[in-house]
Amino acid sequence: MIASSFEYFAPTSVDEALALLSEHGDDAKILAGGHSLIPAMKLRLAEPAVLIDIQRVEGLKGVSESDGTLVIGALTTHHELESSNLVNQKVPILAQTAGEIGDVQVRNKGTIGGSLSHADPAADWPATILALDADLKIVGSGGERVIKATDFFEELYTTALEADEILTEVHVAVPAENTTGSYLKLHQVASGFALTGVAVVLTKSGDICENIAVGITGVSDVPYRASEVESALAGRALTADNIAAAAEKAADGVDILEDIHASEAYRSNLAKVYTRRAIEGAAS
Ligand SMILES: Cc1cc2nc3c(=O)[nH]c(=O)nc-3n(C[C@H](O)[C@H](O)[C@H](O)COP(=O)(O)OP(=O)(O)OC[C@H]3O[C@@H](n4cnc5c(N)ncnc54)[C@H](O)[C@@H]3O)c2cc1C
Repeated sequence: MIASSFEYFAPTSVDEALALLSEHGDDAKILAGGHSLIPAMKLRLAEPAVLIDIQRVEGLKGVSESDGTLVIGALTTHHELESSNLVNQKVPILAQTAGEIGDVQVRNKGTIGGSLSHADPAADWPATILALDADLKIVGSGGERVIKATDFFEELYTTALEADEILTEVHVAVPAENTTGSYLKLHQVASGFALTGVAVVLTKSGDICENIAVGITGVSDVPYRASEVESALAGRALTADNIAAAAEKAADGVDILEDIHASEAYRSNLAKVYTRRAIEGAAS
């Protein structure tokens, strides 16, 4: 299908983009890689009267390190994250997650900021960003604020972003040397999206799990931290039995999605199985 007609703006600075957002209010949408918004417009699920294309905005692309933190521009593509030496050296789970997204075309155009802002319940980034306890920098007409990833995802396709705000950066603290990570997903065969995606960030002391963070996507309307799994394993030996027992709690207290792709029971089981495997992967 063909999208409804719209006005197109291509600002070159954050200030200019914010001014356009304020001027056009709810009629306007930010356009980043376009790999979620354009399909939605073609299906007429989204009909913005104004598109504000931020691809030419200065300073929103690339990854750098500052004081032990990776600073990732919102316009950094999945491919750039997958192939960055800095990312692969410092926080390899980010590169691993990026490599699991869609196909080459999607990874070349889609951006981390677009994916997080869109908050598709089957998107990959949210699981990893939650497990890494990332901070998200947001800029709006009222100024700048930083929000924890755990406070960002609110409902299906809904985040803490206000209509006049832009996500500009993702901040990820470089984990300690005894910390490992693993992202594991079951791809939905047609789209590649996650039927279940589990990100584990694990700090070990010998065989003991000092600390663990587990982010899960694809299972519920909203991606979540599996806190029951985390508290069942933190401080305990990383034996197969302990890992399996903790992973059984992966869907505890969660409203599980049911759709044409998977029943509630199947998704709940997937969450447990992929959590166990992701923890085993990080632990080994
Ligand atoms: C065939 C196909 C397969 C895919 N497979 C996967 C997959 O396996 N896993 C996966 O996770 N994703 C997948 N995707 C989605 C892909 O990763 C998208 O690129 C991503 O979800 C959106 O990023 P984008 O840059 O394209 O954002 P856009 O489509 O440009 O924007 C998406 C939404 O976010 C808003 N937005 C964008 N950037 C910002 C910003 N900086 N601040 C505020 N709001 C912003 C827009 O207004 C819009 O509402 C797939 C897409 C396609 C077409």
